[in-house]
Amino acid sequence: MPKIMELPQHVANLIAAGEVVERPASAVKELLENAVDAGATKITVEIKDGGMTFLRVTDNGCGMAPEDAKTAFLRHATSKLRSAEDLAAIETMGFRGEALAAIASVSRIDLLTRTADALSGVSLHLEAGNITEESEAGCPVGTTILIRDLFFNTPARMKFMKSDTVEGGRVAAAVQLQALAHPEVSFTFLRDGKQILSTPGTGNLKDAVYCVYGRDGGKMIPVESRWDNYTLTGFVSKPTDARPSRSLQTFFVNGRPVVSKLLIKALEEAYRNQIMVGKFPACVLHLALPANAVDVNIHPAKTEVKFLSEKSAFDCVHYGVLGALNKQTDRPQVQFKPSFPERQEKSPTPQSPAVTVPRKGEANSFFRTMTAEEYKNFSTAVQNAPQPKPQAAAAAAIKVDSQRKDALKESVLLPGMTKLPPMYTPPKPVAPPMPEPEPLPEPEPEQQELPMAAEIPWRMVGELYNTYIIVEQGEDAFLIDKHAAHERILFEKLKANQEAISSQMLLTPVPVTLNAEAVGELLANTQLLAELGFEIDEFGDHTILARQIPMDLSPEDAKDALESLAADLLTGRREEKTKVRDEMLHTVACKAAIKAGWTTSEPELLALVKQVMTRDDLKYCPHGRPICVTLSKKQLEKQFKRS
Ligand code: ADP
Ligand code: MG
Repeated sequence: MPKIMELPQHVANLIAAGEVVERPASAVKELLENAVDAGATKITVEIKDGGMTFLRVTDNGCGMAPEDAKTAFLRHATSKLRSAEDLAAIETMGFRGEALAAIASVSRIDLLTRTADALSGVSLHLEAGNITEESEAGCPVGTTILIRDLFFNTPARMKFMKSDTVEGGRVAAAVQLQALAHPEVSFTFLRDGKQILSTPGTGNLKDAVYCVYGRDGGKMIPVESRWDNYTLTGFVSKPTDARPSRSLQTFFVNGRPVVSKLLIKALEEAYRNQIMVGKFPACVLHLALPANAVDVNIHPAKTEVKFLSEKSAFDCVHYGVLGALNKQTDRPQVQFKPSFPERQEKSPTPQSPAVTVPRKGEANSFFRTMTAEEYKNFSTAVQNAPQPKPQAAAAAAIKVDSQRKDALKESVLLPGMTKLPPMYTPPKPVAPPMPEPEPLPEPEPEQQELPMAAEIPWRMVGELYNTYIIVEQGEDAFLIDKHAAHERILFEKLKANQEAISSQMLLTPVPVTLNAEAVGELLANTQLLAELGFEIDEFGDHTILARQIPMDLSPEDAKDALESLAADLLTGRREEKTKVRDEMLHTVACKAAIKAGWTTSEPELLALVKQVMTRDDLKYCPHGRPICVTLSKKQLEKQFKRS
């Protein structure tokens, strides 16, 4: 158990002074850090009234000797820092030696603490920072700090407090953060007597994430990577589970929660082209690096960090997350509405007209006055009552638009539904020779490696609504959105091809009329446009002439594409060039891709399926919509009551 001493003045001055206790949550943060530093494996936080009247933290850490317990409340008293040099290599959470002093000065405190080698512990009572009572006390090893009436002597500060609900919520968030920072510690949080959180302290981050985020946490993708001497571990959300805000992005650097624009950017870059605009990934990421490679900002209120090598930190997070996202092979599942029996329970059984249903409150009298004869009639009526129709439960689950519903009634084989091709086994060319369609070229060689899943043979079953290709593989069926898939394939192709996109010279140049600003923007970016396969000329009066357009576009599409490109350029003026280029590639890919509703030949569909089934990078269209959803045999069996 380390001895506590006062910091030399010069060290104290090195440390930026600031408010430690702003609100109950900030006090909780400090107390939890102290408990963790004390080596606790079990920490309990209890609050009442948002933590304003009652805030207790109990730990089973090393405890304090009676003398140390008293020193702990002095300003700049710490057992964790002895010299200015120590500041550079600090590994414990707290090191300013002012948290307890600050909290004590604005509250009433009861402290109970005992070290393992002492037979009894000590109990202290403090009022506004002054020790008013001290006695020997029997207690378990560890420390219990009870803070009551926070800010009782600073009414001005009290005024800044929000409602108990808000303050309590902030305390909850502070506990959650520590629980995610220290999965090796079991945290329990009770709010007004009710248990809100309990983590097992297994040391497994996954368990802590699950306890904090619930089922959403269970769906997150594991991340594990090394980059130089940087290590990244944690969990990130699937692109389809993106959130409307960044509130669930949590980063730790060497166990300390940090707010870092650099790390946010590294994370979000990894999701680029996989996530919808205005959505954000969630994460719990731990970055570990040598203590001297990071400057933890020593301002108490801030959680910012400065990396010695920003590039290494960025790359470690960026490539780590990217790798995790690419490794992930599962595709989103078709979502069924609650299955039929659940709905049956909720909706009342249709009644035979012979039976009058008692209204609410009439039930008793209804049964009381029923004679034996009436009862007989009633039960026969119930038996003869029409059974509830299955409401076409399975059909309702897969959304069918009304027109298509009519089509379904008329024919089993939908217009455009191709007949079944024979079984196709990717690695061995047993099945019929693959027709090689022109418009959908083979993937780039390095993208051809087959993931594990491709080992199971698959076959294309057909196409639904001229839009979704159905593929069967083992116990799974896949519904592939042909437009989204083709768009992504084209996009990747355009992106991989860093040089100019092959273009076609037009016999008759296409005039494109736009507003003056857009014309100016396009003309100012002819180089970028050339990379995208466009050659344009000024043609006076709000018009440009497209002389050359990308090979994959029709002149009509090229016109639309130029319009969107102008818009992209206008809105992305201040964005980075690669982003604008990506946006443009989206536009070109989207325009050039086959459309939903179009009739597509079987070999073309097959070529698309082949790529989707074998490539890892084809999970989402460039706008973040899924390309493929699965429908498992199990799911269907459930719908049909076979399991
Ligand atoms: P710091 O954590 O920056 O050292 P604090 O004011 O938070 O400063 O705490 C002062 C000292 O009190 C700590 O250095 C530590 O030795 C001791 N201390 C505080 N809380 C605990 C605890 N829960 N268990 C054991 N020792 C503690
Ligand atoms: Mg501390």
